[in-house]
Formats: sequence, C-alpha cells, structure tokens
Amino acid sequence: DAALSRAKETGKGRAVVYSPGDQGPPQHDISLEAAMFNAVREGEFLLYYQPIVNARSRIIEGFETLMRWKHPTLGMVPPVRFIPIAESNGLINLLGAWALKAACMQIRQFQEVAGRELYISVNISPRQFRSDRFLTVLDDALALSGLDGRQLVLEITEGTLMIDPTHAEDILARMVERHARIAIDDFGTGYSSLAYLKRFPISVLKIDRAFVKDLPSSNKDAAICNAILDLAGHLSLSVVAEGVETEEQLAWLDDQGCHYVQGYLTGKPMPANVAVTALKENLYTALLPADHRTGKS
Ligand code: C2E
Ligand code: MG
Ligand code: MG
Ligand code: MG
Repeated sequence: DAALSRAKETGKGRAVVYSPGDQGPPQHDISLEAAMFNAVREGEFLLYYQPIVNARSRIIEGFETLMRWKHPTLGMVPPVRFIPIAESNGLINLLGAWALKAACMQIRQFQEVAGRELYISVNISPRQFRSDRFLTVLDDALALSGLDGRQLVLEITEGTLMIDPTHAEDILARMVERHARIAIDDFGTGYSSLAYLKRFPISVLKIDRAFVKDLPSSNKDAAICNAILDLAGHLSLSVVAEGVETEEQLAWLDDQGCHYVQGYLTGKPMPANVAVTALKENLYTALLPADHRTGKS
C-alpha cells in the first residue's frame, strides 16, 4: 500500500515535505496531512458508533460507524477535515479497511450484549469503493468477524455510483452476493438522476440532514421528505432520516411513515463502551434527554 509505505518512510515526528513539483494536495493543510501519517502509526484514529433507531419504539436497530481522530494536542479533528485529505492521498484505503474490519467485529460484541440482531452501517468512500482491494477487504471483514453479511450495510453516496456506473454495477452485485445491503448516504444532495435507483440494487435511503433540520415548519423540506418516503415505499426501500435533533422532527417523521431515525435526539456518536452500556438497558431510555427519562414530559 503506497500510503502506508510512505507513512513508514517518514520518520516519527518528522514533517512530510513536498517538493514544488509534487502532486501533494496544495489546498490541504500539509502539516495536518503529515500528522495523519503519524497518527496511523500512533493509533490515534478511533471509531464512534451512532444508534439508528426505530422511530416509533426508539429501539436500537443498528449503528453507524463514524471515524474520529484524537490528536494529542489538536484534540478531536472532525472527519470533514481529515477524510478529504485521506481521500486525496490514498490513506483512506488503509483507514477504511481498518474501520470496516473493526466495525464488523465490534457489532458482534454489541449483538452479544443486546442478545439480539443489530446491524452495522459503514461509510465507504469513493476511492475505497473503486479500489481493487475493496472486495478482499470486505471478505476479510466478514470472515474475521464471523458477521452475517445481512447485518452489514455499506453507505455510499450518489457521487460514488456516478463516477463509473459500470464498475459500480459490478461491485454492488458482488456486495449483494455477500448479502450486504447498500444505503445511499446524504440522499438527495448529489448530482445524479433517479435512474440509478432502477439500475442498482439499493436497499436503504438516508435522508440528508439538510432536509431534516428545518422540519416540520419548512413546507419545502416536508414536501421533499414526503416525496422520498413515497418513492422509497413504492420501491420497497428502507428510509433512515439523518440529523434528527428534536421531538417535533421525530414525531413528524414517524407520522409520515419514516421508520428509522438517527440523530442527536436518540444518541450522539459514542465510543463502543458507552454503546455497550446503552444496549444493556435494552430499551433506549438511557439515551433520551433527561426530562424524558424522568417522565417529566
Ligand atoms: P455521514 O456519513 O452523513 O454521517 C452523519 C454525520 O452527521 C456524522 O458527522 C454525525 O456525527 C452527524 N450527525 C448525526 N446526527 C446528527 C444530528 O442530530 N445533528 C448534527 N448536526 N449532526 C449529526 P461526522 O461524524 O462528523 O462525519 C461526517 C462525515 O464524514 C460523514 O457523514 C461521512 O461522510 C464521513 N465519515 C465519517 N466516518 C467515516 C468513515 O469511517 N469512512 C468514510 N469514508 N467517511 C466517514
Ligand atoms: Mg454515513
Ligand atoms: Mg449522511
Ligand atoms: Mg451527511
């Protein structure tokens, strides 16, 4: 792996130096990029888990894996800052492979604690999706963890499908052979046509937070969410609404027939040990706002 060997060549604590002709990403913070290679060696990357819950019962159905980088002095570096860098220098293949394997193993522990089926949803970047090694990584993740492919959801964006639809068709077919489900992340925000819903074996649509945050007062967002739910219903797709922060949003979505939600209201992304505690409570009250727990509302 070029990214890894490049990281290894770079001495510990030394900056990566780009010559002027280098294809290094000039728009990115190069010192942050250097720190990322160091972070891989030092094990500074972590996985957080955010519950995906049944909108009616609030029972946890699964978790989305969200990567975190805990830098010793910078603190938590958000994915919006480091994922694009990893995508441009190829480090995403290494990080993504680790995340997929670790997440498949982690959900097995969650299932054991909960005593029931739970699924794990993992983000796959465009570069990772297009990598020759991706299917090998997927097979390794399933073999290592012993996870049933049915309990794995792979989140890709509309953009990932559109880069090379023929290649995407082939990869998706192979994912389906392994019984993994495909979710379209940030649905409705990409540049694409609805034709891909016909062409590709999609199982889940994740409504982007952009369409959720002004619910229920925004008529436009309400119309967009209803249209997505209607479309999904006719195509037999599941829908997860992202970024649900208020009781009003949850109630509205539930009323409109949205079965699954994910957001700060029903649980922020959390370390695995915190998720284990939440699962031990079986119902989901541990993660509800305090005034709901005490029954004040
Ligand atoms: P995403 O996959 O759409 O993930 C959802 C994002 O929304 C997460 O941001 C999550 O923390 C945030 N979120 C969830 N509920 C709420 C809410 O109620 N309110 C608000 N304001 N935000 C909420 P995060 O963790 O910062 O990740 C951002 C993006 O970075 C992700 O968007 C995903 O595209 C990418 N990412 C994160 N982890 C990975 C990874 O392991 N691999 C890849 N390829 N991308 C990742
Ligand atoms: Mg996602
Ligand atoms: Mg999303
Ligand atoms: Mg998003």
